[in-house]
Parts: sequence; structure tokens; C-alpha cells
Amino acid sequence: MSRGKTCEAVRVVVRCRPLSRKEASECESILGIDEKVGQITIRNPKAPPDEPMKVFTFDSVYGWGSKQRDIYDDVVRPLVESVLQGFNGTIFAYGQTGTGKTHTMQGVSNDPDMRGVIPNSFQHIFTQISRTQNQKYLVRSSYLEIYQEEIRDLLCKDNNKKLELKESSDFGVYVRDLSSVVTKNATEIEHVMNLGNQSRSVGFTNMNERSSRSHAIFVVTVECSEVGPDGEDHIRVGKLNMVDLAGSERQSKTGVKGRRLKEAAKINLSLSALGNVISALVDRRSTHIPYRDSKLTRLLQDSLGGNAKTVMIATVGPSHKYFEESLATLRYANRAK
Ligand code: ADP
Ligand code: MG
Repeated sequence: MSRGKTCEAVRVVVRCRPLSRKEASECESILGIDEKVGQITIRNPKAPPDEPMKVFTFDSVYGWGSKQRDIYDDVVRPLVESVLQGFNGTIFAYGQTGTGKTHTMQGVSNDPDMRGVIPNSFQHIFTQISRTQNQKYLVRSSYLEIYQEEIRDLLCKDNNKKLELKESSDFGVYVRDLSSVVTKNATEIEHVMNLGNQSRSVGFTNMNERSSRSHAIFVVTVECSEVGPDGEDHIRVGKLNMVDLAGSERQSKTGVKGRRLKEAAKINLSLSALGNVISALVDRRSTHIPYRDSKLTRLLQDSLGGNAKTVMIATVGPSHKYFEESLATLRYANRAK
């Protein structure tokens, strides 16, 4: 099957985590995974046994045995290569809280086999840079959080300050006053990531609750200058966005009022806006891409569509208890491919 150019620019994969130790004693798995053909089946635990299972096909599907390395090498490495060539790229982790978004994006930093997409990209970028001879590189990073449609800088001491999205004809859409830190090697940039991670938890009683409701975006900008055959300096810039999205679970509306209800609506807004943008990008008939509908999609406008590459890693858990949420995740991911 031949796919349009825009289709190739978006890749959607699904990763299923194993049953946790606790789940193993009280849950049954409702997912069936065929990694060879990229297929995942989901069974409704309440349906009669003869009801057919729902089947979804993706660019790739990763089962419980998948390694961090597999994900990096198969889906992230090509995208980071294109960033090094001067294109923009975005990697999203999408899914219900507890299904492995942070595990996939961050992993465990002191265990080489458990390092996630973000630290692996650091290693990859600086290894590539160290191999080049005639180019000069400048690597900058920013780390921000979008919580209830408000932007905070995770690398700034005063991290409760709300930052504004601005638009200019020279820079496109940008965040005013966002910190940008120059780093010279993988250790330095990892330190930046750790600082930002600490800042995410400051001042909130329940870190997990907050991180499940906010989008965290780590941005690496790679600038390369090289003297061309004409003797002039040529500069190319690629930007890599790595996004640990808010939990996709439906926010409970029963018994929730006021601030909480508004918060729930805003979380759903940016996730649905993202779904709409990605599905408009893969649908060649669409002429309008609704970037303006949320802060998240506005901010990532120059890294979604056009020459940019996008990878969505949808994460699911196998337990029968989360049938509805897992099905919703697979449907969302299915719309994006
Ligand atoms: P999320 O960020 O989506 O809320 P986490 O990444 O925090 O979820 O994962 C929840 C738990 O499941 C963590 O204890 C994590 O270590 C574990 N986990 C997630 N994905 C995997 C996986 N692929 N293999 C093993 N454990 C995993
Ligand atoms: Mg998380």
C-alpha cells in the first residue's frame, strides 16, 4: 500500500507493560499481542465468550518483554537522526496513568538497560556529534510543563511563574522568557533533565497526581554550523521535543465541582486537540490543521507536520480492570495513524 508523504511523517506504535506483581494475583490479561504483524487484540471481560475480539493494527506493537533499547532503535533513532540533519521531530507518550509513559520516556537513569527515550537520545546526539569533524554544534535544552493550559519553566528557580506563548514572524511560536541551557556532553544535559524533574515535584503535596495531569516537554535544539564549498558558514537547526503527556484517563465528573471540574476539562482539551491535529495531518484531504486549539499544539506547531517527524508511543496495561481505558487509548492511537 502506498502511503502519502504526510502519513510517513507520523508513526504510531503501542507498548504494553507487563502485569504488575499485585495485578498478577488478581487480574487477567485481556490483550493479545502479535509483534510480527503489529497487531493487538483486546477482549471485553464482560462480553460473552463468543463475542469477537477487537483488533487494531499499528506501525509496531511492543509486548511485555520489550526492551527500552528496542523502542529506541526502532522508532526513536530515525527521528533523532533527522533532527541531527536539521529537521524537527516530536515524540509523545500517550496513555492512562500507570501504563508506562514515564518509564518509556525517562526510565531508570542509573541502570543502562532501563534508560528511557530521553536519556538515550542524549547519548545518541552527543555520540554523533563527537564523530563529526568539520562541523560545530550547539546543543540547547529547555524543559517545560503545561498544566491546566498554563506554561511553567521547569529549569527556572521561580518555577511558579506562568509563561506566555508568543508568535513572531522571525521565530514562529515561542515561549517568552523560557530558559535555554547550553550543554557540552551527555552528563551535562542529563543533569539539566534531573533538575527539571525535581522542579516538577516542588510545592505539590501529591507529585503523582500532578504529573498525571500535566504535560512535560523536554526540548533539545541542535544547531550545526559548517563551512560550505562556497566558503560561507551554513547553519542548520533541528528541534527535538519529547513529551510525557498527561494521563489519558477520563477525568471523573461525578462529585467534582469548581476548580477540579475546570481542570478536568482543560486536560481533556489539549489531549483531544492533539488527537485532532494528528488525525488532520495523516488525512490528506484535510486542508486545515487545528493547531490553535490548545497550548500544546500551538507550541509544537513547527514540529508537527511539514518536514517534521512525529512518533506517538501509546502505552497500555493488560489488566481486565482497565478495559474501557485501554480501548480508548487504542482508538485514540488508531485515529492518529
Ligand atoms: P505513567 O507514567 O504512564 O503513569 P509509569 O511509567 O510511572 O506510568 O509506570 C507505572 C509502573 O509500571 C512503574 O512502576 C513502572 O516501572 C512500571 N512499568 C511501566 N512500563 C513498564 C514496562 N514496559 N516494563 C516493566 N515495568 C513497567
Ligand atoms: Mg508518569
